[in-house]
Amino acid sequence: MSRPFNFSAGPATLPEEVLQQAAAEMLDWHGSGMSVMEMSHRGKEFMSIYEDAESNIRELLEVPQEFSILFMQGGGIAENAIVPLNLSGGQKADYVVTGNWSNRSQKEARKYCSVNLAASNEANGHTHMPAPASWQLSLDARYVHVCSNETVHGVEMHELPDLNALGSAAPLVIDFSSHMASRPVDWSRVGLAYGGAQKNVGPAGLTLVFVRKNLLGNALPHCPTAFDYQVVSSNQSMYNTPPTYAIYIAGLTFKWMKEQGGISVIEQRNIAKAQLLYNYIDGSDLYISRVTQDCRSRMNVPFFLREEKLNDLFLAGAKEHQLLQLKGYKTLGGMRASLYNAMPLEGVQALVNYMRAFELKHA
Ligand SMILES: *Cc1c(COP(=O)(O)O)cnc(C)c1O
Repeated sequence: MSRPFNFSAGPATLPEEVLQQAAAEMLDWHGSGMSVMEMSHRGKEFMSIYEDAESNIRELLEVPQEFSILFMQGGGIAENAIVPLNLSGGQKADYVVTGNWSNRSQKEARKYCSVNLAASNEANGHTHMPAPASWQLSLDARYVHVCSNETVHGVEMHELPDLNALGSAAPLVIDFSSHMASRPVDWSRVGLAYGGAQKNVGPAGLTLVFVRKNLLGNALPHCPTAFDYQVVSSNQSMYNTPPTYAIYIAGLTFKWMKEQGGISVIEQRNIAKAQLLYNYIDGSDLYISRVTQDCRSRMNVPFFLREEKLNDLFLAGAKEHQLLQLKGYKTLGGMRASLYNAMPLEGVQALVNYMRAFELKHA
């Protein structure tokens, strides 16, 4: 039996091979007599799972040794507080607002530091990225925060900004929750990157944080100890009990990604998938994408039916065709197709075929 194609924005589709391996190992991991869920996080079995996961993601994303990789909890939303608690010193930080998620980040940060809104694309409905050259960066910002892929609005920074070239010496902080591991990262431009696992690499409950080691050790005194990057780093993410099962599944996904040929193969596949869908939308009379072409997300594709009264019919028919979770975000309406790494090209082809048949029927 083949499974339906699941276009959820998160928690989202995972590679079938990963789910099958997890199922096969559920009761007895590698002859240990235990499920991964039942293991001590400090035992040699789980330590080997953890170390494999860490070294595989480091290798896949070519993360330099100057970065610590932290396995945390609380998701992207908790990082909205944890970042200023660790990096702001209670002083100033620059925020670039490009959609729903970065807007939430800057709001939360105001509890802990003063926020300079360096740029915003709110006036155009978050449909394109403000050019970095137009950002009003402050000279005394402790960091500059961006969301490099806006999951709701579907805008993506296809290139990370070079803050040095913009005259800022502050480290760049990126929320890359929804396109982590979908393409290579230029680490020379990054101070810290964070993302919840449930969009592209694993189950909910795990947050990955990649932080330059020279940024550790600056947490505010009232920062919860479990969220102090320095403490998490020096305890190998085991100051508190980490989300062991989620780390295991993410580790299986990293292995799957290596077997696919690594990040550049995966990136090429993601480009092909996104092109297939956007090309069809642009050529159709029923569907529309509102995002400017050069910053369209490869991962999250919001699209709208010109006749909104067809929305429910479209979704019901999609489900009959084994195409799940295409409903758009609550505040935006319309549709959204998320095309994470585990979505095969055939899934996007099936979606386009369905969209074409629906359009013909309702033209
Ligand atoms: C999903 C998402 C978040 C929030 O993640 P939680 O795990 O719910 O905290 C934050 N930022 C981006 C870009 C996201 O896609």
